[in-house]
Amino acid sequence: MLTLTNARIFDGTGMAPHRRSVTIDGDRIAAVGEGAPLSGEVIDVAGMTVAPGLICCHLHADNFKSGRTDPLGAEWPPGMLMAIGVRTCRVLLETGFTGFVGAACSNDIDAQLKMAIAEGIVPGPRIRPCGHHIGTTADANDGMIGKWWQELAHPGTDLFADGPDAIRRLVRLEIRNGVEIVKVFFSSGHGVTGPTARNMARDEIEALVQAAHERGAKVRAHVCHKELILEAIELGIEVIDHGDEVDEACIEAMATAGTFWVPSLAFLEAAQRINYPDPGDAMARARASVRRMLPLAQKAGVRMLLGDDYGGGRMLRHDVGAYAGELAMYGAVDGLSGADVLGWATRNAGQLLVDRPDRVGVIEKGALADLIVVDGDPVADLTLLQRPDETLRAVIRDGRFVIDRLPRATRAGGARQAELAAGG
Ligand SMILES: [Zn+2]
Repeated sequence: MLTLTNARIFDGTGMAPHRRSVTIDGDRIAAVGEGAPLSGEVIDVAGMTVAPGLICCHLHADNFKSGRTDPLGAEWPPGMLMAIGVRTCRVLLETGFTGFVGAACSNDIDAQLKMAIAEGIVPGPRIRPCGHHIGTTADANDGMIGKWWQELAHPGTDLFADGPDAIRRLVRLEIRNGVEIVKVFFSSGHGVTGPTARNMARDEIEALVQAAHERGAKVRAHVCHKELILEAIELGIEVIDHGDEVDEACIEAMATAGTFWVPSLAFLEAAQRINYPDPGDAMARARASVRRMLPLAQKAGVRMLLGDDYGGGRMLRHDVGAYAGELAMYGAVDGLSGADVLGWATRNAGQLLVDRPDRVGVIEKGALADLIVVDGDPVADLTLLQRPDETLRAVIRDGRFVIDRLPRATRAGGARQAELAAGG
């Protein structure tokens, strides 16, 4: 049993930060309160903030662009993909991210990472694994960049099928391989140009959603056009990725249905910096529009999430400071607060990462003990987590230290660190 005392707590529930103690027993939070713990180690963390571990809800764990691969950096052989995925997991933990929800990968890397972490082979965050981008023949993604993928021995991140039965079969195979959130490329847009907005017929997407839900998997959709966003929400898709044309009607529909939204503004900002091709100025318009919609969506209660296309393409890399950079970027949007944005990365994300009755992303009795300890107050300064070497004092996953730079007043502390270093 471990108690962090004198903590400033950001608990993810929406309550203002308060000073209390947190007691961890096994992999759960056993108590949050003023009282002294019954037993176990006590660490005074005065001046520090205890928060739920951050959760990235859109990343491609195996994407790594070196200049030798095209176009997404997801076309390496399987062993390389796994090595890249292990590196991604390490960067996540070192930057205070104790969880991620996959947004597509090659070769079932998300599910295999989850397996390797569960077996204790490598350290890593809590994962909701995604699989391939599912699309249809000759859709925007299939035709992208001169059908580059057809010339490779490796199929990359994409799978294509046609007709409800074939798509249903594909979804079931994904789930068999460990996928817990199915990714569909429902529309063009957000850097993907195609002949039409719609990539998949309505009966095909209905079959996809039904097949996923029947087996307990969730669905996330790359979808950018207003009418298709509304259709995705109506069909029960849990996560709108990008949503470049989200407007007031989409916000109302998402709020009513409880749909999550990953606005992925970092990609749009980076695209502008490097002059990424933007036919018709669609991404430039999205950049302005998404910024305007974010505070409206927050006010309406839409569950927004952090995450973006790290590792894919040329602009966003899996690097220290990158994931947390989104906190400051969104926090600088007019009408959003530090607590709002930290809530996206913790409470909102936790509701997507694990299924009830488990809870994560909050500091409450009974929730899973995935926590970080940060010097200072990240609610007041969202840039703190971009400098983890200076500010991140501890990362705890499932109640165990992954990183431990906490002060110890007694020999007991030193003994504990030695035990951890020995894998105890
Ligand atoms: Zn993506």
